[in-house]
Amino acid sequence: MREFTLIHGCMFAGKTTQLIEFYNTSNCNSDEKLAVKPLLDQRYNAGRINSHGGLQLLAHRIGKAEEIYTLVNESTQEIYIDEIQFMGPIVIEVIGELMMNNIRITAAGLDKDYLARDFGPMPALKKLATQTIEIKAKCHICGFPATFTFRKPGNENLVLVGNNDLYEARCEVHWKEGMEGRH
Ligand SMILES: [Zn+2]
Repeated sequence: MREFTLIHGCMFAGKTTQLIEFYNTSNCNSDEKLAVKPLLDQRYNAGRINSHGGLQLLAHRIGKAEEIYTLVNESTQEIYIDEIQFMGPIVIEVIGELMMNNIRITAAGLDKDYLARDFGPMPALKKLATQTIEIKAKCHICGFPATFTFRKPGNENLVLVGNNDLYEARCEVHWKEGMEGRH
């Protein structure tokens, strides 16, 4: 059966925590499942998928989505992908191919960048997914459900992987206010 679950949302929504939970509660043995993340995510330890909440799991770091093929073997039944928004358009093809081979895919990705532009392959991945799970964060200003990532002023370098110091989750109202410099 073709199965691709996509967990998506803004920053601080708990996407990675959810991904790790799915990994930990799956029925597969550790040699039947594989976790990968893009090489450019330099947060925390190399080779581990970390959530902001402190959970982690061992992951292969890959430079290109095609590298997943070299990691798959006969016993692979499930693949978990973190930060899938960074993997580029080729990841859509790779996932399609893996699904054809009856490998279950679970991935977590950031919907939009801090300018609220769709992040890379995310719209196409949502169409390809057999199940999508949107997770919302809490707005940093009002505490209501947040779906936007706000980048605090004064960090003009295009750092896309960040942490509490650079970004905040915000509801639409407070994201817009922030972009206009009002809040
Ligand atoms: Zn708000």
